[in-house]
Amino acid sequence: MATAAANEFNIYESAEARFEEAAKRLGLAPDLYKYMKYPNKEITVYIPVTLDNGRLEVFVGYRVHHSIVRGPCKGGIRFDKNVTLDEVRALSAWMTWKCAVVNIPFGGAKGGVICDPTKLSQGEIERITRRYTAELSEWIGPERDVPAPDLGTNEQTMAWVMDTYSMHVRHTTTAVVTGKPLDLGGSRGRREATGRGCLMVCDRAIARLGMKREQTRVIIQGFGNVGSMAAMLMHQAGYKIVGAADVFGALYNEKGFDVPKLIDWVSVQKKPLPEFPAGGTKLSSQEVLFQPCDLVIPAAVENQITTQNASRVQAKILCEGANGPTTSAADKIIDEKGIFVIPDILANAGGVSVSYFEWVQDRMGFFWRESEVNERLRDIMESSFDEVVRYAETHGVNNRIAAYMLAIDRVAVALKHRGIYA
Ligand code: NAD
Repeated sequence: MATAAANEFNIYESAEARFEEAAKRLGLAPDLYKYMKYPNKEITVYIPVTLDNGRLEVFVGYRVHHSIVRGPCKGGIRFDKNVTLDEVRALSAWMTWKCAVVNIPFGGAKGGVICDPTKLSQGEIERITRRYTAELSEWIGPERDVPAPDLGTNEQTMAWVMDTYSMHVRHTTTAVVTGKPLDLGGSRGRREATGRGCLMVCDRAIARLGMKREQTRVIIQGFGNVGSMAAMLMHQAGYKIVGAADVFGALYNEKGFDVPKLIDWVSVQKKPLPEFPAGGTKLSSQEVLFQPCDLVIPAAVENQITTQNASRVQAKILCEGANGPTTSAADKIIDEKGIFVIPDILANAGGVSVSYFEWVQDRMGFFWRESEVNERLRDIMESSFDEVVRYAETHGVNNRIAAYMLAIDRVAVALKHRGIYA
């Protein structure tokens, strides 16, 4: 059994509890266990920035390198007022397991800056990004650590990271970050990749459960990069999107949304999602997860499905678009309800998979067609889904623990080959 997290809402403890259980089930050798339990490096930076009003503010930022065993570190940069070192630690560990589940040659990292981007001007965000990058310039790089966007950061932020790093090393180095604009070394298909990956694994899951797209009602919490792209692609594929939420609240409409119009409302017109005209019943952002549906995709923030509410999930399939939306303590309740879980380290791995393609293309200086990107993504998502489900069946564990076991095993094999440098 998992070592229960002492504090259900500490995502580092949640991540550890799953690691512990998977390591135990694998019978991981004590030396390998000890090595993998700890991150490789944790960096704290203090970022002095002159605000638009002329005053100076010092922001705190982190970068955690969890593992370099299978390749350079890879992981997003989050700008959010709730960033903590524990959160960044957990997210960095998840990146290690995620890259290993989909078998791409990266270790895991994550970064974050404690700030509220909704209250900062573009100029202030640019200055935070550039100074954060400058402070980390010796620790990042195409062969060291390759950041990407996450909550509160986007293609523009990545362009600033790329430019700042390039100024420091005195040559343009597009492969230092992924999730860049298309005309600056970005990859076709990267913007849609995480949502597309969700669609691909959901297709696999409904096929296993004998369900049809047209009869599958979907609720999506979070309408940013992951949520809105998943909504658009799933709508185009024939799924019925009956619930959606952003930070301002949620809408539930059993008839299904006009998804292109909803995306235009939120992403183009920049309006709060719950104000979408004639959208349906208004609910809180969290409450929408517990409405009638067949498939639920939490694609916003952590700790949404907990011991307090897991029994109320009505979906047959839980596809974790966000990182850590279900607490480890709630896993048991979800299992007992017989919900088919596509765990975060598999479900949202489409993003890092196409980031890997972007890094490869930047290093080749040769860019692929979108159809080629999507085809390679499909290979990765479908084969990884199948491997996780097979692993779960062979070892008699749930899909989440199977994904961890598969990942830990892959890292352990690489570590055994490399050995421990004294
Ligand atoms: P984003 O900043 O583009 O969008 C976040 C969305 O969540 C917004 O719609 C926001 O309004 C909403 N939101 C924020 N707080 C909320 C709350 N409390 N309740 C409901 N909605 C809330 O971020 P994103 O890139 O879409 O990332 C979302 C999640 O997916 C994060 O957990 C992130 O780590 C994970 N993820 C992202 C990617 C990627 O490629 N962007 C890849 C893998 C995992």
